[in-house]
Amino acid sequence: MENVIVMFPSLGMGHLISMVELGELIITHDPSLSITILLTPTHYETTSTANYIKTVTGTTPSITFHHLPPLHHPPHSSIPFFDLVYQLINQYKPIVGDTLQVISEKSTIKAVILDFLSNNAFEVCRSLNITTYYLFTGGAFSAGIMLYLRTVLPNLPGSLKDLKCYIEAPGTPPIYSRDMPLTMHDRNSDSYKNLISTSENMAKCSGVIVNTFAGLEPRVMKALANGEYVKDGPTPPTYYVGPLIKGNSGDNNGDDKCLEWLSLQPSKSVVVLIFGSLGKLKKDQLMEIANGLEKSEQRFLWVVRNPPPENEKGHVFELKDPDLDELLPAGFLDRTKEKGLVVKNWAPQGEILRHESVGGFVCHCGWNSVLEAMHAGVPLVAWPLYAEQKMNRVHLVEGIKVALKLKMSEEGFVTAEELAERLRELMEEESGRKIRDHVLEMSVCAKAAMVDGGSSRVAIAELVESLKSVRV
Ligand code: UDP
Repeated sequence: MENVIVMFPSLGMGHLISMVELGELIITHDPSLSITILLTPTHYETTSTANYIKTVTGTTPSITFHHLPPLHHPPHSSIPFFDLVYQLINQYKPIVGDTLQVISEKSTIKAVILDFLSNNAFEVCRSLNITTYYLFTGGAFSAGIMLYLRTVLPNLPGSLKDLKCYIEAPGTPPIYSRDMPLTMHDRNSDSYKNLISTSENMAKCSGVIVNTFAGLEPRVMKALANGEYVKDGPTPPTYYVGPLIKGNSGDNNGDDKCLEWLSLQPSKSVVVLIFGSLGKLKKDQLMEIANGLEKSEQRFLWVVRNPPPENEKGHVFELKDPDLDELLPAGFLDRTKEKGLVVKNWAPQGEILRHESVGGFVCHCGWNSVLEAMHAGVPLVAWPLYAEQKMNRVHLVEGIKVALKLKMSEEGFVTAEELAERLRELMEEESGRKIRDHVLEMSVCAKAAMVDGGSSRVAIAELVESLKSVRV
């Protein structure tokens, strides 16, 4: 029977891409393996996700997408993203169990690789005696923090939301309690319990596959290797296989406007502003960014979306066309037409960052975006919005020093003056130069990791060896 690796990504483009890229690396290394990717129905997703799946299906036949049937009562898309994904996987447990049984009638399942957000499927795999690995889409820093949560959080004197303290984790600068993800703030919340469960399960899984590369996070990798994050037993084997980022095709949707425009700009002159797959900013913040861009006098490529719905009840993935004349200051588009390009909703970020004209990136600190920037050698201004992004900012600004910090209010508001100053610093000033140079070194490391004999290829070989040695 054919040997198959089953993968279970989470919702969200970033999570899906990392999983697919990992699958491609595994089968490239060992074509005797095949990959089945379980997908929950696409009713939460954007069209770009559907396009991406279509492209992969067309180009990589050894990767099969298995669409799980719809639930009768799926969680409503208006609940917070984190709770949505955990509830969703929880409801899918029996279906996943049945699906694994059906797959195992025709193939030998060597292992399941779970996205850490698909943690609720861990017990299903265990009950079927299937060896389980985790793919950690967030880098060694957040993998370490995830493994450490079960040690550090229960031992604090209360919930993070009630404390003003610093979290000291091995190999990282101290993280202010309020900068930890909101999902960890309340001990009595479901999200907290889900995270502790993920931390527990990850510590006992067969391996943690991490989307990072040697050279980017050396202090954290050393602490992981020394077992400093798992105090009560062995740390599971870690595989640093990244950067798992999308290649040239698949996200452009036939729209080359951005790349054509970039080709007309001078080398390393353009600042890119894109806020992840879910980032939406309020109208006053959009106005302020526009004013900041004008003040900075930098060239820019900016993806603008509609503000989040007032009552927070909107569909998280919904992307209706924004009315730019209504959202941006009067005359802004006209005044900046020589220097800037505003794109509605979505742009081919990977290809944009790799373009020679790009010199800086205002980034929401989502890990895929960070890796795409590191690979391309583009320095960052950190503008965290949601999830673990404030925690990532500490790592990016103080830990690995690839980003400048933006001053923001408690509510996360950034003034036009602050944005303009940081953009000038990043693009033109001496203090920005240190970061620019360091990021160029990271780009060399990222590329070296992915060629034959590079550290990430060696890690893939070790991972495949481990997957194949599983006795079924
Ligand atoms: N992305 C893109 N175009 C956009 C916005 C996002 O191609 O306009 C891609 C981006 O290149 C990255 C992913 O979506 O690969 C976002 O993942 P990340 O981990 O950075 O953030 P998340 O969306 O998970 O918060």
